[in-house]
Amino acid sequence: MRLAWFLLCLSSNFIVYATARANPPTVPTPNRRIVIGASTLLDGRGHALHDTRIVVEGSKIVALDPKASPVDYDLGAFTVLPGWIDSHVHITWSFGPDGKNAGAEQTTQFAAYQSASNAWLTLMAGFTTVQSVGSPRDVPLRDAIAKGAIPGPRILTAIEPLEGKGEKTGTPDEIRAFVRKQKAAGADLIKIFASASIRQGGGMTLSQDQLNAACDEANKQGLRTLVHAYKEAVRATALAGCTEVEHGTMATDDDLKVLAEQGTYFDPQAGLVIENYLANRERFIGTQGYTEEGFAAMERAVSLDHDIVRRAVKIPRLKVVFGTDALAGSHGRNAEEFIDRVRDAGVDSLGAMISANSLAAEAMRISDRIGSIAPGYEADIIALDGDPLKDITAVRRVVFVMKGGVVYKNVPRGAIPVQK
Ligand SMILES: [Zn+2]
Repeated sequence: MRLAWFLLCLSSNFIVYATARANPPTVPTPNRRIVIGASTLLDGRGHALHDTRIVVEGSKIVALDPKASPVDYDLGAFTVLPGWIDSHVHITWSFGPDGKNAGAEQTTQFAAYQSASNAWLTLMAGFTTVQSVGSPRDVPLRDAIAKGAIPGPRILTAIEPLEGKGEKTGTPDEIRAFVRKQKAAGADLIKIFASASIRQGGGMTLSQDQLNAACDEANKQGLRTLVHAYKEAVRATALAGCTEVEHGTMATDDDLKVLAEQGTYFDPQAGLVIENYLANRERFIGTQGYTEEGFAAMERAVSLDHDIVRRAVKIPRLKVVFGTDALAGSHGRNAEEFIDRVRDAGVDSLGAMISANSLAAEAMRISDRIGSIAPGYEADIIALDGDPLKDITAVRRVVFVMKGGVVYKNVPRGAIPVQK
């Protein structure tokens, strides 16, 4: 109970939540039926439905029935859509007690509370599933949320990433053993660094043979692969049969066409991650991996990142998913990336929503469970005070969050101020 109180106090909207929802969320009672009224519903796959009602039993949606009654939650004033999915976060990455970047690997009690806070803020922002890539610290948080012990999004984690360090990364056999070790530790996917950081120029750090071994072994183990790649590493990743490229800055149109041909998912970031670094500059500079020169490189990358997203969405059949690279300072502000993509990179608003719903679920191979509002799906349902197809800044105004049939947030219209 004390932890729950602490988490509530962390939220700047504490009073609003507490007033609107007198009782804390509870584990769903089996077969308890909840009816949600919607006048505008985006189903997550690109369709808009009007004047319907969603029937939820336990953790699942069981019907869309305009005549279902009585209505428990009338969301008629809002836009209703599936809970968002963020394909790329670092859920345990936080600032330390001194306010400086503390990374994702801290094991202090303070860091544990920060991780729980990151999870809560992410859920309150409308993200009901995130993929954390990755840290061993993700595991207890993932498992506590899955048990219903603390509130947060459903977490999939890569646990320990494969760090590309040239020959030091290991032989193909050693890399295969590393992949199997992550699987044994309970990894949901494998994260691979095939390029250096953009702050160090983004050059390739794994050979084609090493990358082939990593993604082939993961495929054999039934695990997906997310590969941090810039420039020439983007094409190499697609040719290695990996599942998804992260970032992709400075890839050519021809590289992107290879992704489309190979069916490789692509998760570029249009803005939030660098905006957050620049806004928190003093908290990062001087901590491991962050220098003045690195920040200068990130400033130069802002326009390159807009450019890669703008080009990517024009490549036929390229599957562009939503991921933010949320880290210290940006947890709970994940939806800003939608605004960046639409405002700065020419992405259409409906496409942006699908990229965080059915398409993100497809990339995670769970598109039969989440990412859509349809019978048989998990009851992950959010509502926005506004229409994101007309004004993308509506993504900042998440007024209702249900995850797996449990309501975590339900605030009145106008409760979240408009910020354009
Ligand atoms: Zn990342």
